Amino acid sequence: MRLITTLEDLRQTRDGWSRQGRTIGLLPTMGYLHAGHLSHARTARAENDIVVASVFVNPTQFGPNEDLARYPRDLPRDTALLADAGVDAIFAPTADAMYPAGFATWVEPAGPLTERLEAARRPGHFRGVATVVAKLLLLVGPTRAYFGQKDAQQVAVVRRLIADLNLPVELRVGPTIREPDGLAMSSRNVYLTGDARPAATALYRALTAGRAAFDAAPSSADAVREAMRSVIAAEPLATLDYADVCDPATCAPLITSEAPALLALAARIGSTRLIDNFLLRADGSWDIGQFTDARHAE
Ligand code: AMP
Repeated sequence: MRLITTLEDLRQTRDGWSRQGRTIGLLPTMGYLHAGHLSHARTARAENDIVVASVFVNPTQFGPNEDLARYPRDLPRDTALLADAGVDAIFAPTADAMYPAGFATWVEPAGPLTERLEAARRPGHFRGVATVVAKLLLLVGPTRAYFGQKDAQQVAVVRRLIADLNLPVELRVGPTIREPDGLAMSSRNVYLTGDARPAATALYRALTAGRAAFDAAPSSADAVREAMRSVIAAEPLATLDYADVCDPATCAPLITSEAPALLALAARIGSTRLIDNFLLRADGSWDIGQFTDARHAE
């Protein structure tokens, strides 16, 4: 496996692959990898000639009071995991390479999608995400790019970005990979120590209650929101940020319980902010993710 750290090396390597007519799968990550990331790596491995994972803690998507400085990093460990998953190359640039002095051009998503949920709580977050994703797609030139349903609003933003900028790449979205007790895997789970770890299952429990309320006929979106809120309220270590039922493409709030629908949740467990979601697809099937312990899988 190749470790690429400079834009020049990336361009030359990418040009070689293009000359050989290879298909390329790109998996953008911020590193500190877990089974969720690796599930995308395996899918990408099966679907492409070449698989590239980017490992870059993108400073522009963090707010001033967020965890950029302490975000977990371990490139040697990530390299070993990606090599095991059959990834061909890691692109791990420095922040200075991605944002050199004088950097001034941003990709700024607009409209309701970037006014709600995460966007409302994390001003500038999706500008940072859209800018870095656009740069990575232009630099790597992948055939397919792999993202996780775990970050549902990010998926919606990237889908719009690819359509609006006519980027020649296929977006592939993989399911949320969960711990056996339902907690969605996240690099930030490393912050959950002591009682915070069991308390963090409140998000999954709340989504499960929301799903049951959604499936109960007749039901309103407000009843679903309330079902989620009450589970979070019952967990002493948890503070609700939002519990919403919305259109998966626009994140606009729903009034009635009709598919497609996204049950989206954000809560603090102690000082750690976590997000999670369940997706009710248009065909009526739920995407609640996959458990690392297959006995719980649906
Ligand atoms: P991150 O490193 O957190 O930026 O995540 C990189 C990619 O992995 C994003 O597309 C995420 O949505 C995805 N991802 C994060 N957590 C999970 C998970 N538990 N299951 C599946 N994909 C995930």
